[in-house]
Amino acid sequence: MTADSSSQPETQNPEPGTYFGEFTTHSPEETLALGRRIGEQLKGGEIFLLRGDLGAGKTVFAKGIAGGLGIQPNDVTSPSFTLVNTHEGRLRFFHIDLYRLDAGMHQGLGLEEIFDNEKVVTVIEWAERLDSVPARATVLEISYISNTDRRIIISKVD
Ligand code: ADP
Ligand code: MG
Repeated sequence: MTADSSSQPETQNPEPGTYFGEFTTHSPEETLALGRRIGEQLKGGEIFLLRGDLGAGKTVFAKGIAGGLGIQPNDVTSPSFTLVNTHEGRLRFFHIDLYRLDAGMHQGLGLEEIFDNEKVVTVIEWAERLDSVPARATVLEISYISNTDRRIIISKVD
């Protein structure tokens, strides 16, 4: 999968130079490219909480982050039974999907240990299932607009 760099997401980004703001993507490739651009800026310790319905594009965004860390995006898949997948790139990447978890049932997964590790990048799909979130996390709300369009709002936690 290649991202067309001439086709960039529309943005109402209030803080140029950061990845916080509101974006509209018009294809999976644009969502992948947005994730990749963010992934390239990461230094370790970042935690992304992805919220949005099934098919919103959470996994596509996670693949983009992976790409920006030098990991093959296709290696990042929706885990069927594994809740936590690890990939080695420029930084270690934890891809977590809590879809199959009942709310509040994430004790024992070792998530706190991952959250405390400032050398890794963590992306959590279905972050709604967490009952407490790390203070330094970034929240992504991805919503379906049409078959091809998604609204992505990136903000600090709270
Ligand atoms: P989730 O992980 O949120 O359940 P996926 O990332 O697995 O969702 O799937 C998103 C689906 O939506 C894919 O089939 C993708 O091709 C499609 N899609 C269509 N338009 C977009 C877009 N703008 N951004 C992301 N995915 C899109
Ligand atoms: Mg997914």
